[in-house]
Amino acid sequence: MALLTLGLGAFVVVALTRKNIYAGSALSLGQYVEPYDVVHSNTADARKFDEQYSPPDNVWTNAIALANNVINPAMSWLTTQSNIAFDLVVDSWYRAPRTNEAVGGEDDSDHLNGSAVDLKLFSGSTLRNELLVRAILASGASFDQLILENGTDSQPAWIHVSYDATKTYSQQRNEILRYNGSSYTEKSRSWAENLYL
Ligand SMILES: [Zn+2]
Repeated sequence: MALLTLGLGAFVVVALTRKNIYAGSALSLGQYVEPYDVVHSNTADARKFDEQYSPPDNVWTNAIALANNVINPAMSWLTTQSNIAFDLVVDSWYRAPRTNEAVGGEDDSDHLNGSAVDLKLFSGSTLRNELLVRAILASGASFDQLILENGTDSQPAWIHVSYDATKTYSQQRNEILRYNGSSYTEKSRSWAENLYL
């Protein structure tokens, strides 16, 4: 029991130290996400994939572009529309190769270079991912891919969104996909607008 407690304590200390390092980073991600959100991974922590916390520089470039072009406009639109407090939860952002493999990510996943993020929006304990999709669409944010993952059409379990920093804002594909747990279906913007706006 003493060993177990010591082990857990050491784990918490490592996690807090990492959080402090990244919290102090002067990256311009905006007010809705922080650098720790980009690198944090429970899977990497559990498996001691330390490289998860030392991403290549281009990961930060891609993460900043994604935050500034998609997350920030969407969340800023949402806060102007409602007085309700929302919690934006980052489930998965950058994944080091071993982390990506461990979670079953695709070999060419955009998570590998930090240009994709998996997000959930909560109001209290209630999942409000439909509002997150509405906010992304209504804010006019441009994205490479927006994938509505699992759950149902009207309440996906989480939202995967990516931004291709090698292209301009107007060159983004703005591709919308629905993933039902087994296959992807491409959806039109009007399908999404009818459902979410
Ligand atoms: Zn994803």
